[in-house]
Amino acid sequence: MVTETRQGRLAGKTAVITGAAGGIGLETTVLFAKEGASVLMADISEPALERALAKVKELVPNHPRLETIKCDVSKESDVQAAIESQDKHGGIDIIFNNAGIMHAKDDDAINTPEDIWDLTHKINVKGVWYGSKHAVLSMRRNKKTKGSVINVASFVALMGAATPQLAYTASKGAVLAMTRELAIVHARENIRFNSLCPGPLNTPLLQDWLGDDLHKRHRREVHFPMGRFGEAIEQAQAVLFLASDESSFVNATEFVVDGGLSKAYVTSE
Ligand code: NAD
Repeated sequence: MVTETRQGRLAGKTAVITGAAGGIGLETTVLFAKEGASVLMADISEPALERALAKVKELVPNHPRLETIKCDVSKESDVQAAIESQDKHGGIDIIFNNAGIMHAKDDDAINTPEDIWDLTHKINVKGVWYGSKHAVLSMRRNKKTKGSVINVASFVALMGAATPQLAYTASKGAVLAMTRELAIVHARENIRFNSLCPGPLNTPLLQDWLGDDLHKRHRREVHFPMGRFGEAIEQAQAVLFLASDESSFVNATEFVVDGGLSKAYVTSE
């Protein structure tokens, strides 16, 4: 019998990706699978998960194990069940806490409805907490000697947004602060925690929010040093590095992938 040894930068690792059915999460799933990781794709939308799974299988015909699970990251029991489901495979090595929302009614201090504030924080902050908590428990239970947790913040956690989205900005600031502390607390267990800070992207989260509001769009676009939105795959490449052993001494960083935006003075009208 011929036994195949898988190659790749994540060969032999098991990863959970939340929000895996779209945008950054889907591109990261494809890349992880190409690099030899088994992936549990977790998302709130079952139909979107089905479509995403078919796409990954098409793009990576020689894929390692791929599973999907319906999971609302704002519910701890869902996150726990997703992560514990991987115990039968020896537990997880990587979690990419990526699921997040920016609600259409998110606005400034005066106009953001309280229920929108609470919903945003339940998904964007508590979802990351639950994912981090159950990843640590899983890695301990399965005696992992190296683990990588990547939590998605945003460049707006480092600077203010050009148009108000206060609940979102505050939630991403919380992700940065939480991840920094988790990184230090768990460093001696060799579980690394890093935040990813994407710039504005060509994904439904932002493009649907901007819609055909040209003023809102222009208020963003004047800030882009590279003159364009980022692509989800450009985030996925950074996540791959943070997930892999290549980043074994990278811990507690705010890993910024924004085309230089957060370092820029407005460059043009
Ligand atoms: P997206 O909207 O394209 O995809 C998000 C995915 O998360 C979707 O598949 C959606 O079904 C899923 N999801 C939503 N709520 C969920 C929940 N409660 N539980 C589980 N899954 C849920 O978004 P994206 O642009 O790929 O963004 C991914 C992450 O990157 C988010 O945390 C977002 O805040 C962050 N981010 C995005 C941008 C940007 O410009 N798009 C910039 C900075 C940071």
